[in-house]
Amino acid sequence: MTPALSRIALSEPSLGGNLRAYIEECIATNFVSSVGPFVERFEQEFARFVGSRYAVACASGTAALHVGMRLLGVQMGDEVLVSTMTFIASANPILYERASPVLVDAEMTTWNLDPVLIVEELERRHRARIKMPRAVEIVHILGHPAEFEIVQLACERFGVAVIEDAAEALGACYTRGRFAGKQVGTIGQVGCFSFNGNKILTTGGGGMITTDDEALARRAKHLTTQARLPGAEYRHDDLGYNYRLTNMAAAMGVAQLEQLPWFLARKQAIATRYNQALVSVEGVSLPPQTDWAQSSNWLYTIGIDPLRFGADRMQVMAHLETLQIQARPIWTPLHLMPLYQGVPRLGGHVAEHIHQTGLSLPCSVGLTEADQLRVIEGIRDMRRAR
Ligand SMILES: *Cc1c(COP(=O)(O)O)cnc(C)c1O
Repeated sequence: MTPALSRIALSEPSLGGNLRAYIEECIATNFVSSVGPFVERFEQEFARFVGSRYAVACASGTAALHVGMRLLGVQMGDEVLVSTMTFIASANPILYERASPVLVDAEMTTWNLDPVLIVEELERRHRARIKMPRAVEIVHILGHPAEFEIVQLACERFGVAVIEDAAEALGACYTRGRFAGKQVGTIGQVGCFSFNGNKILTTGGGGMITTDDEALARRAKHLTTQARLPGAEYRHDDLGYNYRLTNMAAAMGVAQLEQLPWFLARKQAIATRYNQALVSVEGVSLPPQTDWAQSSNWLYTIGIDPLRFGADRMQVMAHLETLQIQARPIWTPLHLMPLYQGVPRLGGHVAEHIHQTGLSLPCSVGLTEADQLRVIEGIRDMRRAR
């Protein structure tokens, strides 16, 4: 009998470094909740890492986006342009504020929202004197920065705010053009990050709001702490939330941030190895890669062309499952789900194409070479069998 194969997970956290020591420090000092020195330290060190002036920690990436909407004044009657090819949490905060999303189709180079569709829409509205959207939400999916220089210029011209959902792209940056040297999440008025368990950096659950605007940062902190005014009397001057990150979670964040350069290097090495092994496999296309940006390689996602490969992505997933390998299809575009059906859209069916072909492969930073080879062989075998 062959020994049972260990299961290879899609994306699991790596909890080494000083993480244990910092959590023990929280316990020893009794600072486990939303007050404590690690929160501020995490905010400062995070801001320094990404290159934003301010960072405000919060309970999740979704909470960060929700507060982001509030910061930009998004409310009922406003529209916000957002990708349809994303995780649903990108768009839900628009609905939390009873505002109206407009779903933008993707482009094939980076799989992010198509900048031309957005610019054309803003120009059309300008010519026809139609109300502008309140904001454009740029989502950087799977780790590759979105191309949005022309969107940024149009938004500046027409007075439309830009918010970035950088939940999956911490550490990704632009290497050429107007944004060269900038990391994602530092270009729009507000940037949002997630530290959920499957993200590049995890605090168990958590998020961050980044901005260069001191007033917005102060307001973000206020809204995440129940909009409570200083003083002992429990006075509140706005509708706030309990969205603060705990000191315990922030302690994890500080430790993870110390390891982030290594995490990113591992993600890059894993992606490079997959690319080298899969580039020659008929019917497999490699994840987005450009010469003007550096991806965070968060979730390594290939395209499977069913006709050329001889099986579709769900069949490949099922085959990998028999080998104890976890793979996962890319999200269903938002406009195909009940909550967003009938919502106004820009563009065609690129997102559907990505959805029908995209398959994410295991890429935890702790993935061993032997395990990665098992994944690669699992895909090659299936192709050979056709
Ligand atoms: C994970 C994620 C979020 C939400 O972050 P949470 O911390 O899980 O709330 C938002 N947008 C995108 C693109 C994500 O991947």
